[in-house]
Amino acid sequence: MYDLIIIGMGISGISASIYAKRAGMKVLLLESSAPGGTINKISEIENYPGIISISGPDLAYNLFEEVNKLGIEYKLERVTDVLLDEAKTVKTTNNVYISKYLLIASGRRPKMLGLKEEEKYLGRGISTCALCDGALYKNSDVAVIGGGSSALSEALYLANIVNKVYLIHRKEEFRGEDTLIKEVESKDNIELILNNEVTSLATKEDKIEGIILKDGKKINVKGIFIYIGYIPNTDFLENTNIKMENGYILVDEHHETNIKGVYASGDVTKKDIYQIVNAASEGAEAVVYMTKQ
Ligand code: NDP
Repeated sequence: MYDLIIIGMGISGISASIYAKRAGMKVLLLESSAPGGTINKISEIENYPGIISISGPDLAYNLFEEVNKLGIEYKLERVTDVLLDEAKTVKTTNNVYISKYLLIASGRRPKMLGLKEEEKYLGRGISTCALCDGALYKNSDVAVIGGGSSALSEALYLANIVNKVYLIHRKEEFRGEDTLIKEVESKDNIELILNNEVTSLATKEDKIEGIILKDGKKINVKGIFIYIGYIPNTDFLENTNIKMENGYILVDEHHETNIKGVYASGDVTKKDIYQIVNAASEGAEAVVYMTKQ
């Protein structure tokens, strides 16, 4: 029996685990893939207090080091089901764990365009991670799809590696931060294609050779980077009555859900601002509030 089980080893879950460990709780972290979560896919982080600039994977590594140094227990197992009673039961692919409190910090995954053969070419011409795959397109032309801060910042990252970036957005105005918009606009090798959408992939001999736009135009690119938002990771909660909106978990000002003893923090929750700094603080706050109960 644990005091607290935390689902997700992104910055929110790890931040919570540090506070829980320091509060003397018996805590277990569960993660289905790599510790660090979404930040593993961010090229450069320059808006986290106290850190002038760090790559996402380096920050993820530091977080994981901290977990190990503090002796926080973790298991790399996928959560498949959760049963919420007085005790919280968490089933994984390998085991069943029970705790008094549960914190869901499972984050969200990239949304895809829904194009024909999109899944087939994922990892083979289509990517959701410029940091992971950008180097494959050195000296080639690529397309970035989206108009938020992710599309803008990753287009900037790619512009330093590849020959040319086409930034394709379905509206006239970008949704992302002003500083990023100005930087993108000043880059010589980023061409903006606005008010347009990708309707299909152009392929040849089982390789991506371009994209076809709504206006019928073909753009020749070897790589396509999709940054059109996210889907929250809440599939394993289908047997619960946790209140959600569009898949995002609803929490109160203490980060508690509608179910007593069940908290949620970070990108899996419904909120206005999705930043690394508030994901970290929410995890910490959730634990502080649960220890005050
Ligand atoms: P956003 O939800 O902010 O933006 C998604 C973009 O994709 C929108 O421009 C949207 O267009 C477009 N889009 C959505 N669906 C489709 C579709 N089917 N076809 C074409 N375009 C589509 O997601 P982000 O990942 O950019 O950002 C998420 C959060 O993370 C934000 O809060 C952002 O501020 C933050 N962030 C901050 C960074 C930083 O601080 N440097 C870096 C990266 C992210 P439309 O506008 O028309 O809806």
